[in-house]
This record gives sequence, structure tokens and C-alpha cells, in this order.
Amino acid sequence: MARYTGPVCRQCRREGLKLYLKGDKCFTDKCPITRRNYAPGEHGQGRKKLSNYGVQLREKQKVRRYYGVSEKQFAKYFSMADKMEGIAGENFLKVLESRLDNVVFRLGLAASRAESRQLVNHGHFMVNGSKVDIPSYLISVGDVIEVKEKSTKSSKFKELVEGHQGNVPQWVEIDTENLKGKIVAEPSREDIDIPIEEHLIVEWYSK
Ligand code: SF4
Repeated sequence: MARYTGPVCRQCRREGLKLYLKGDKCFTDKCPITRRNYAPGEHGQGRKKLSNYGVQLREKQKVRRYYGVSEKQFAKYFSMADKMEGIAGENFLKVLESRLDNVVFRLGLAASRAESRQLVNHGHFMVNGSKVDIPSYLISVGDVIEVKEKSTKSSKFKELVEGHQGNVPQWVEIDTENLKGKIVAEPSREDIDIPIEEHLIVEWYSK
């Protein structure tokens, strides 16, 4: 399935919680979830009790939307995580957190993952000194992500990181002066800020 291109906030309403897809708007009372927290569409206000299948499907879609990943890539990440040592569900979330677009967002260099994806696509970032414009590029511990010198001339990135201070997870570090981030540890399960029951996704893919 291709990437969703419809109204962004509709995805949060479908999942019944804030997925923080729109940057600053998500923290204001303009957020549609704050005003009408029911599913979109004619029957949105009469939600039925879900079957096990439905519960697993919704959990998968919620996490896929949160990270903005296509169905195909999501399944590929699960397959990768399933082959790693440790708990498949946690490994899966770690792989998703390791995407370059997510890391740029976590560092505070973009207001949302969608914006981050666009900025990466436009070639604003370097990883370990080389330009990387692939949002799905997976980073590792020790990698250094920085804003390309030409792009530092705009005040945008400075304003973004300054506004994000205090929200950077412990597994990354940001040098706000030089707009340079470093991965200092593996992402931890506790750093994921929406409620996720990853065992439901494991069950979905284990059928
Ligand atoms: Fe829209 Fe953000 Fe609210 Fe989701 S959390 S409904 S993306 S404003």
C-alpha cells in the first residue's frame, strides 16, 4: 500500500489518539482530537467493539501512521526485528526509531516526522560527513547527524532546536550551536511517547 496522502489529522481521529503528525498544531486547542475524538466518517461516533483481529490491525496501523511508514516497509522492518536477538516487539520499535527521519525529528531539527522526511529528502542533512537524503536510512550508535553547512544559513533549524530543548531523548545528543547530533545509545522502549502494545503487532505478523 502506498503512503497515505489524505488529511493528516484524520489518521489520529481514526486511531482515537494524538499521533503528533502536525508539529506545533498538535499542542494547541486547534487539534481535532481535542475537539472531536471520534472516528471520521458517517459511522464514526458509533464505534463497535473490535475482534482480536481488529485490535491487532488497529495497533499495527496506529504505529505505522505514527512513524509514517508504508505497509511494505513496515512488514520488512518486522521481518528484520524478528531475526534479531531479544524481544521481537521491542526490536521492531528500535528499528523504527532508528530511521533517519525519526532521528532528525527526535533531535528537534524538524517539527514533525512528516516535515523531517521532507527535509531529509531535500538533502539538508549529513550522516558521518556524507550527504544522506534517504528518510529510511537506519542510523547506528556513534553516528553523527548534522545540518549541511549551506542549510545552516537559514534560521529555521536554530529556531527548531531551541524550541525543542528539554524534549530530546537520552539516546541522542544535540549540539544546538553547531546543529549537530550524535547517537549515544540504542533507543529505549521508554522513549516512545504514545501508548503502544507491540505484542499485538507481533501477534499480527505471527499468524
Ligand atoms: Fe492533527 Fe496533531 Fe491533533 Fe493528530 S495530534 S489530530 S496530527 S493536530
